[in-house]
Amino acid sequence: MGFAYAPQGRPSRFRAARFMSPAMEYISTRGQAPARDFEGVLLAGLAEDGGLFVPRHWPELSPAEWRAMRGLAYPELAARIIGLFAGAGLPLNTLCQDAYAVFGHPAIVPLVQLDQRCFALELFHGPTLAFKDMALQLLGRLFDHVLTKRGERVTIVGATSGDTGSAAIEACRDRAAVDIVILHPEGRTSEVQRRQMTSVLAANVSNIAIKGDFDACQDLVKAMFNDAPFRQEMRLSAVNSINWARIAAQIPYYVAAALALGAPDRPVAFSVPTGNFGNVLAAWAAMRMGLPIAKLIVGSNRNDILARFLAANDMTARPVEPSLSPSMDIQVSSNFERLLFELLGRDGAITAEAMRRFRSEGRMPIPDAAWREATRLFAGFTLDDAGTLAEIRHLHQAAGYLADPHTAVGTAAARALAPEDPAIPVVVAATAHPAKFPDAVERATGLRPPLPARLADLYVREERFSVLADDLGAVEDAVRAHARRNTA
Ligand SMILES: *Cc1c(COP(=O)(O)O)cnc(C)c1O
Repeated sequence: MGFAYAPQGRPSRFRAARFMSPAMEYISTRGQAPARDFEGVLLAGLAEDGGLFVPRHWPELSPAEWRAMRGLAYPELAARIIGLFAGAGLPLNTLCQDAYAVFGHPAIVPLVQLDQRCFALELFHGPTLAFKDMALQLLGRLFDHVLTKRGERVTIVGATSGDTGSAAIEACRDRAAVDIVILHPEGRTSEVQRRQMTSVLAANVSNIAIKGDFDACQDLVKAMFNDAPFRQEMRLSAVNSINWARIAAQIPYYVAAALALGAPDRPVAFSVPTGNFGNVLAAWAAMRMGLPIAKLIVGSNRNDILARFLAANDMTARPVEPSLSPSMDIQVSSNFERLLFELLGRDGAITAEAMRRFRSEGRMPIPDAAWREATRLFAGFTLDDAGTLAEIRHLHQAAGYLADPHTAVGTAAARALAPEDPAIPVVVAATAHPAKFPDAVERATGLRPPLPARLADLYVREERFSVLADDLGAVEDAVRAHARRNTA
């Protein structure tokens, strides 16, 4: 028989989300902003109360529903999963087909076996050779579609420690309804990363190097969003990892890997090299939706606030130190707020207070019960630069695999903290192509990985960027001038 209503005892949120409510609603982790629909959170980025948007209800899938997705082509799988969060009305199939057509591998996200139980999930076959393309190629198309439909345009501002910026610029270049301004910390990105941003000369793209670290760049972006008149005037929007749509677009590859390895009939574990906590949060979301995930391993470099939190409930910010994996040189993991909100029983007032204390005192007080809940599923691992080089060397010798330094943090973490049951495979998110960090790979292995043909001339392309102090007024003036040039 069919179900005319959810059976008693376990109301199916999945059924409710799909058939009963016209659109998925999003609420703020700080409890003070109005709810919005998917298009609203896509365009807004940060909520008005400074919080992050999360779904009011998580969709949940049954084992039969997961099984039914086995064998789908990646763009189709992505459209199905993202559709659970987006509601009706967006041409997700077409947008996903277009977004992933630009990738350099026919599988989009190939799984490469490294040893008996460990697999690399290669997320770096997009235009900028890092996993950020997975979400941003789709987001650029979503923005353009929604804005064009509404007859609007926006100015995207973002902070990057390297990879987000180039991926956002590639996603937005030449899109009619979008201007984009990206802040990066001067001298703290790799040359490949900088050139991938600054050599895009499209009129709607502007790059600013800030005299400061990544957290300073991120604080400037947050300050622009908190400047309400400026935010309105510029129609500011974000594509950095606080944007919910990015998290949604990162869930499908965890689903694809788990299904390929036997889920939902066999649990899997994931190891994710982590900076802003966005990528691993997407893996957590897949688990929250019912995918059997035995463990989530969080890999950090020496900037290991998350590992210290998981080991001893010590969430204390320290100064950021440069490492071989610059995209993880972060001490304030913005997406952690979404997990915190869940750990605190979805209480926006308590979440807001914890974030306020963290901001003013540099230390986040987290109740013991919430910390224990986090450690049930998450485990943290720290690897310094020497360990990272040793791991790159080890992977090359043992498996003939060339890994970038971020991926190497993930594979070392996977070996150290794999679940006891040897039947549970561990999937490592391989987040960057080795050619994106050729110096570290060469130091470790003696081999210099070549750039793929489509990027072969990167080192001789013309660059364009300005350098500004860590000063809100100066940055706002530059954003204004850029937007004015393009609408004049
Ligand atoms: C951004 C990035 C990370 C960290 O991802 P988060 O979502 O910020 O945790 C790891 N590796 C690479 C190569 C990245 O570009």
